[in-house]
Amino acid sequence: MSLLVVGSVAFDAIETPFGKTDKIVGGAASYIALASSYFTQNVNLVAVVGDDFPNDFISHLNTHGVNTEGLQVKEGEKSFFWSGKYHTDMNTRDTLTTELNVLGNFDPIIPDSYQNCDYLMLGNLTPKVQQTVIERLTKRPKLIVMDTMNFWMEIAMDDLRKTISMVDVLTINDEEARQLSGEYSLVKAAAKIQEMGPKYLIIKKGENGALLFHGKHIFFAPALPLEEVFDPTGAGDTFAGGFIGYLAKTNDISFDNMKNAIIYGSAMASFCVERFGTERIVNLSNDELKIRISEFKHLVKFDL
Ligand code: AMP
Repeated sequence: MSLLVVGSVAFDAIETPFGKTDKIVGGAASYIALASSYFTQNVNLVAVVGDDFPNDFISHLNTHGVNTEGLQVKEGEKSFFWSGKYHTDMNTRDTLTTELNVLGNFDPIIPDSYQNCDYLMLGNLTPKVQQTVIERLTKRPKLIVMDTMNFWMEIAMDDLRKTISMVDVLTINDEEARQLSGEYSLVKAAAKIQEMGPKYLIIKKGENGALLFHGKHIFFAPALPLEEVFDPTGAGDTFAGGFIGYLAKTNDISFDNMKNAIIYGSAMASFCVERFGTERIVNLSNDELKIRISEFKHLVKFDL
């Protein structure tokens, strides 16, 4: 099934207790597109970069089968830039810089060939732009999944609430769920957020796994305990890419299949954190993925 991915394609500078990078390629949609490409060969990207963005990475996306016809390159402008520093627990971070640059006035043009997509993944991006993408699709996709972050809650809450009301699945982290709902209990937060529109909510808890809420149903997927977590940047996006990629591959949006999709998303995210940036998820083999999935199975399997 075809998947449309929208989100930031960017430069990041990351500092973790294990090291520091200069500007490297990042952005929500970069991670989502790469991760989902392991499941479906019909990934279409809508994003914007400046003329400072490396062609090599765009070619890399193409090698993964990602269609970049909808990736706008703005001459004389700079790509979105984000920098962050992780605390020693690697589960929390401070944003040091957010330079919107080309994202500041991004007009998401949807190529005709992208219309009629079955699945839409709205990666982290200006909520108004996410909304415009939904409005510009001539046919509503079978499933719309949206990711966002606290940054947008602070500067664009009204737009964000409007966009959230239009989607089927929202993915956010635990702190963001609390901020959005005003509730400390994640169960209460999930109930309030579902009232805002999305019938499914995924709350990401970093190394503590992820929760899927749907009405009164709750499913929990752990994160794989890893010997080394090098850089968590993009883990949430890689998770989302694996999640929607698996749904697009299986074309089954039942709650039960979403449980499977969460395990695939978690497996993809577990690779992402093993190296800086997108380094680890650009060249995964099918065998590596299979082994990781079976590690997940063994992690949570028990007979009572
Ligand atoms: P994650 O670690 O999954 O939360 O995602 C990190 C990625 O999100 C980085 O590669 C950043 O470039 C991107 N990012 C950070 N802040 C924003 C923002 N305000 N809008 C869009 N993308 C962002």
